[in-house]
Amino acid sequence: MKMVYTKQHKILLQTIMHEGLLNENKAKDLVIKLFNDDKVSLVINHINEQLQPLNMLIKRAQCEITGEFYWVFVSTVLDEVTRFQEEFSKAQLALLRNIFSEIITSSNGCAPSIFCLNLCSLSDVKMSITEAEEFLNDIVNRKWLAYKNGNYYIGVRSITELMPYFRATYENNLSTCCLCKQVIFHGERCNNCQNLLHLHCLKRYAMIYNPVTCPTCDSVFPNIDLSDTNDDLETVKCENMRTS
Ligand SMILES: [Zn+2]
Ligand SMILES: [Zn+2]
Repeated sequence: MKMVYTKQHKILLQTIMHEGLLNENKAKDLVIKLFNDDKVSLVINHINEQLQPLNMLIKRAQCEITGEFYWVFVSTVLDEVTRFQEEFSKAQLALLRNIFSEIITSSNGCAPSIFCLNLCSLSDVKMSITEAEEFLNDIVNRKWLAYKNGNYYIGVRSITELMPYFRATYENNLSTCCLCKQVIFHGERCNNCQNLLHLHCLKRYAMIYNPVTCPTCDSVFPNIDLSDTNDDLETVKCENMRTS
């Protein structure tokens, strides 16, 4: 059956473009409302066929912290510099680059919020603490960064849109998840071989394998909470996994 590109497709596209991304559950609700059908991937594929000649694309991506899926609107030609310049002022950009740098060169894939706020006094940033706070809240809302328990993490939108920038800038600092083979910024680390796994990849894996062993070195992962199979923010106990 050949799907016709309709007004409903345009409404879905505009909704995703408006915020830059749309939570998968919200996208599903909207697709049901517009098309009386829940086949989101089919509808998005059809929109992508229309976007391809324009060098644009809607990509599905998963947040490393919450495990939630998003449909992210990306340009396939705009380079990261152009992307940044469209989105942020020079000072905001300098602050963001410093935070990315801190997160990516850290051992646990996050940066303490107090450290990030104090970056506002750097000569190329020069923001007040209040301005920095407002800006950071805004970029967390727009998923460029994620925030949890006093730390900032790389957000799902940055993972989807800024990967060329991360690859070019931090080539030697980027790790790969040993389950999905994608670049990983934050996850669970094997105590034995030090390899990293996404929390959501590890959870899926833990539903099949008991005891949970490292896919790389076979040593047993202690303290994995198997009861927790939904990806609710409150139930992703990444800190507790390590210490309990
Ligand atoms: Zn993974
Ligand atoms: Zn291991």
